[in-house]
Amino acid sequence: MELCDLPAHQLSKLLRDRKVSAEEICRSVLQRIDEIEEKTRAYITLDGENALEQARRVDRRLREGADLPPLAGIPVAVKDNICTKGLRTTCASKILADFIPPYNATVIERLAAVDAVIIGKTNMDEFAMGSSTENSGFFPTRNPWDYSRVPGGSSGGSAAAVAAGETIYALGSDTGGSIRQPAAFCGVVGMKPTYGAVSRYGLVAFASSLDQIGPLTKDVTDCALVLNAIAGYDPRDSTSAPGEKTDYTRFLKEDIRGLRIGIPREYLGEGLDDGVRRVVEKACAVLEDAGAEIAETSLPHSAYALPTYYLIAPAEASSNLARYDGVRYGYRARDAKDVVDMFKKTRSRGFGAEVKRRIMLGTYALSAGYYDAFYLKALRVRTLIKRDFDEALATFDALLSPTTPTPAFLLGEKIDDPLKMYLSDIFTLAINLAGLPAISIPGGFVDGLPVGVQFIGKPFAEGTLLRVAYAFEKRTGYTSRRPGLGR
Ligand code: GLN
Repeated sequence: MELCDLPAHQLSKLLRDRKVSAEEICRSVLQRIDEIEEKTRAYITLDGENALEQARRVDRRLREGADLPPLAGIPVAVKDNICTKGLRTTCASKILADFIPPYNATVIERLAAVDAVIIGKTNMDEFAMGSSTENSGFFPTRNPWDYSRVPGGSSGGSAAAVAAGETIYALGSDTGGSIRQPAAFCGVVGMKPTYGAVSRYGLVAFASSLDQIGPLTKDVTDCALVLNAIAGYDPRDSTSAPGEKTDYTRFLKEDIRGLRIGIPREYLGEGLDDGVRRVVEKACAVLEDAGAEIAETSLPHSAYALPTYYLIAPAEASSNLARYDGVRYGYRARDAKDVVDMFKKTRSRGFGAEVKRRIMLGTYALSAGYYDAFYLKALRVRTLIKRDFDEALATFDALLSPTTPTPAFLLGEKIDDPLKMYLSDIFTLAINLAGLPAISIPGGFVDGLPVGVQFIGKPFAEGTLLRVAYAFEKRTGYTSRRPGLGR
């Protein structure tokens, strides 16, 4: 194993003990990028020189005896829909291909405050719409466990980079599964925090009532450390939850005796791959062995989550994406006859097929005469879905499910069938509709491919999720496996 294969907390200790320098860690990551980036294509923009500069600055401060936070000097990759001042932020869209933000997202400022080293911006499905990174307006990313397969999406570049050692950890965003599903496909840990737990200021909006930023890490301890750095109230995000800062590392205890974990029966039904089902059954056995109480529960409105999501998310997207008109941001068609023609040409050329599909679906759902029948109805069903979770979580401390119905699929396998693609988020999207926190962690392997298990918690119970995930990790060790990378 190279330095770039280690989790942040181990590197942080080596750094403090003066066994390695931040520059060496950064060089290890950049070397791995040199070796395999042409196969994974995890990054849209690399910022290696700047990263080395930041690393050397941390080294200087350590030499001067400064007491730096745990993520200081550790490389991080950032999904390309999170604004980085002076560093191109494209959302993997041609319409923003040359967009350089004049400000930092709050999460970027918080990472800067702990002296993190930003390596670059990762590939994604255009505007985070997709489940495979094949909807990137530039190129697809490939899964480091098997280059013929997708890394998942939309935070596929972030997940692939963490798995392949092309960064130590990464930030992603999750609107319907975009952190957890790629984390599952790439064998890493991914958390979607409670809605409001992490500031969305500077996250390019897809569906504002569902979007959350969260960590993708090599293990559970790193997930807690990253959450420590990025979570907490931000007055610049009106949906940010007020409250005291929490130290999430205090939940990293192996003892889960007496913890009640519910298994929603709807999440183990038809369409679930047999291998994935076995992984979930084994996970239950591991947790029971550790003293948790496991019982079946039910989320009766589960079947409505997908249609509800695909009304609400596109409706919000159609409104959020109206701002890309060639006037204020990014690409503008230069050969237009008049202003309406300019809007038309800019948007026709700038957006990819999936983004256009979502804008049309959303505009339709919000249009006069259909608003009540589609959008309003979907909002009502969203409340029913949320109630299911409230009821289940009144009896249980957490719920356990597969993260995805199958392991990573082949590139091209679902690209011509949007419904099939949408179904790969069947176990993750309801959680966004309910605003709850959830974590995906490696739960086992099927035919050499990683499979994720998902824990779902009560609002702001990220600590409970970390506790059960940590106990599971300690008893299984799957998070220490790394892909062979075909080298
Ligand atoms: N795959 C889902 C979609 O396409 C979720 C995406 C996300 O979470 N950003 O909308």
